This record gives sequence, structure tokens and C-alpha cells, in this order.
Amino acid sequence: MIFREHMRWEMLRPEEFLARQNARPVVYLPMGLCEPHGHVAPFGLDTIKADWLCDMAAERFGGIVAPTMAYHVHEVGYHAPWLREVMGGVNPRLAALPAHLLLETLFYQFRAFRNAGFSGVVVVSGHHGSQEDLRMVAEAFSAAFPIDHFVRTDPELVAGAFTGDHAGRYELSQLLHIRPDLVAMDRAGRVRTDPLGRFAQNPDVAEASAGEGRAILDLSLRAIGDAVEAFGLRPSGEFVSMEGAARVWDAVAARRADWATAG
Ligand SMILES: [Zn+2]
Repeated sequence: MIFREHMRWEMLRPEEFLARQNARPVVYLPMGLCEPHGHVAPFGLDTIKADWLCDMAAERFGGIVAPTMAYHVHEVGYHAPWLREVMGGVNPRLAALPAHLLLETLFYQFRAFRNAGFSGVVVVSGHHGSQEDLRMVAEAFSAAFPIDHFVRTDPELVAGAFTGDHAGRYELSQLLHIRPDLVAMDRAGRVRTDPLGRFAQNPDVAEASAGEGRAILDLSLRAIGDAVEAFGLRPSGEFVSMEGAARVWDAVAARRADWATAG
């Protein structure tokens, strides 16, 4: 989902791309997925949040938004017991990838960003739970091929001021600000009668408000802006080959038993 087309790599022509990149060589990668968000919200809420934050950050602080990564890690690590708890036996209609595929993809996305001339990468994940591994990948890549990076899930951007949740007051407040047309709050009570059960909906969802959403999102953008301002590297002219990147990835993959998403 694109909110600001003129910030988007895939929508820019070379002249406009280079002008934006020269002014601020930072790329934003929105990450999300389709997973249950109760009866009141669409499956892609995590993606919608990440897209919005990246588009608005690029507009406010400069830079370009990379094509959205709309598949993510689920069912393993942190996510496995969570899924059992909030879904029971109901089919979650999930769009999940194995962790190794997602993390290897992210690694090569960093390569693509650096080779394209960016010196800083902001990854905003609307999906919480695998962020330690996302950061591990960013660290591993940048240790070999220096690049500034800031990798956060959206609740991490507002830690201390707001507490993240899943399909509750926190998340639905954001959606009420971003896309109120996608919210069906009158369905909140279906958790008691619907064959899908609570479908991962949080009990406090009806307390959501657009005003709170705006406050959450404003604070999130400020955290992204601070990070971008702190980036100090210049774009490298060096080309990272597939083979060179693969050697570094192979070392990351060899440690997969230590990944947070392992198991
Ligand atoms: Zn969510």
C-alpha cells in the first residue's frame, strides 16, 4: 500500500530518484505481513502501519521508500506460543515465511540498498517479535560492508510513552488515524459469537481513538527522524558482489541455532 507515490523507489523515474537520493541518501524499508487482527481490522494492519510511517518519514526527513516487504516471520520462536494463545485451533490465514528466507532476503536487500547508492537504511517493521534477528542481520551486513542502519518495530519507536499491543487500543488507534475507512469497530463484540472466536483481537480494542493514534504516530516519526539525523556515513562507491555478500551470509546462516527465531 502506497501513501506517498513520489517517495517510492518503484514509482520514481531516474531524475527524481537521484535528486531525492543526493539530497538524503537514506532508504526506508517497510515490513509487515498478513495475520489476524480481530474482526475490526484488516489482515495487513502491520503492513499498513509500516508503509505509512516510511512514507511520512521520507516526506518529512528526505530519502526514498523501498518496495514493501509484506511477508514476515511467524509460527516460530516468539510467535509460536502466541499463535496458540490468541487463535486456539482457528485457521489464522497467515502469510508467513520461514525465518531463514526472510532474514536472507533482508540481508540481500541491504546489499541492494548499498549498491544502489544509499548510505543509511531505516527498517520499520509493523510486525513485532523477530526484531532481534532483523537487527542481527543488519549488524552482520554492516560489519562487512559499512552502512548506517536503524531497525525497529513500531512499538519500539514509542517505548516508554505507549505500550504496543496486537489488534487492541494501540494498534487500532493508529489505523483509525491512517485509514479509518478500513476499521469496522461495530464488529468488536463478535468475539463472543463468531466461529472465528477472538481472531487475535485484544479486549481493549473499543478504547482506540484516532487522536491517540496520531500521538503514537507523531512520536514514532520523531524517533525515526532522530535516527536519520544521526546517520553520518557517506555513500560508498564500492560494489558488493553477490559472491562477497554470500560469504558473509553463509557465516550468519551457520549460526542459525542462535537466532531468536530458531525453533
Ligand atoms: Zn499487528
